[in-house]
Amino acid sequence: MRLKYKRAAAAILAMITLSGCTGRQAEEKLGSGDMPAGTVPTVTSLWCEETVPDTVTEPPVTSAPVTRGPEGVTSATETGEGYTVYDRSETRYSTDTVNVRELPSTESKVVGQLNPGDSADVTGYTSNGWYRISYNGGTAYVFGEYFSEIKPEIQEKEIVIPEGYYFDDPSDYFFIVNKEIFLPEDYAIETDFVQGSYELEMVAAKHCKDMIAAAEKDGIDLKVLSAYRTVDYQKKLFERNVNSRMKDGMTYDEAYYDVSINVAPPGGSEHNAGLAVDIIDENHWDTYEDFENTKEFEWLYSHCAEYGFILRYLKGKEDITGYVYEPWHYRYVGVDYAAAVMASGMCLEEYIGQNET
Ligand SMILES: [Zn+2]
Repeated sequence: MRLKYKRAAAAILAMITLSGCTGRQAEEKLGSGDMPAGTVPTVTSLWCEETVPDTVTEPPVTSAPVTRGPEGVTSATETGEGYTVYDRSETRYSTDTVNVRELPSTESKVVGQLNPGDSADVTGYTSNGWYRISYNGGTAYVFGEYFSEIKPEIQEKEIVIPEGYYFDDPSDYFFIVNKEIFLPEDYAIETDFVQGSYELEMVAAKHCKDMIAAAEKDGIDLKVLSAYRTVDYQKKLFERNVNSRMKDGMTYDEAYYDVSINVAPPGGSEHNAGLAVDIIDENHWDTYEDFENTKEFEWLYSHCAEYGFILRYLKGKEDITGYVYEPWHYRYVGVDYAAAVMASGMCLEEYIGQNET
């Protein structure tokens, strides 16, 4: 076990050295600078492991308004702030994973997503380049560039799960799962519900429920946004992202690398282990960026260790964890270790690497 911890830490360090990332470069890579033009993550500019796994294609928020007009339509039927909607009626197909928004602007609220090949009933076209569609009994908007008259052919390519290091004894919960260190293939857990339909591994679930109940007593309302996800689900998610990039012209290797920056590979996510939970407050369903400024975060930060959870992806540790700062992602490591890890200011890779060498 000790040897494996060391190998785990070495693997991480090797990864960092090979890629030549300094902290600053890593942040840039993780941020919008590394994204193809016109591609923004679902939630502002954050990469979130698993919670917001899909990148969606939309115009950048800062792009100049599209001024091209609708074809064959002369009368404006609705006007909004900075745009006019022209009626039209047709069926269109999404060519990518795209956001569905309340209004025709990337600053508007996300109300859903369409996947490649999904069809939608178009009811209008806006002067700034968006389609108005019928959506959930009302109307919503999708950016025009990713909406085709012809149903796209979705080419699926099965991904190959790379071999990595993993622990063969996860019973003590104090182990690393990341993009380099995978769960064993026969990893199996019993789960229990924590909130709504969200589940965690049995022991982690009990502590998580206790944590949520304790918060409630203090007047803090915690909402679970994501918890246990199967490896199979992760595989589908990852494949969908890889295929989408290959469709845009990337090679398999390029696409795999690009996707792995923000989506954990199958078996390489703490959510697959049933030990990670994403928690937010009720005002942050689609923007988590400023969750750290809430009283809910403050409570979690102060109390999570009492229930065996740690804040996992720390600010300033992006080059080691491979993820941006995620104030919403908590990892169960057990009550024996959580307080010490939290107090150390180190990320889990550093802490385990240092204490097991
Ligand atoms: Zn998470």
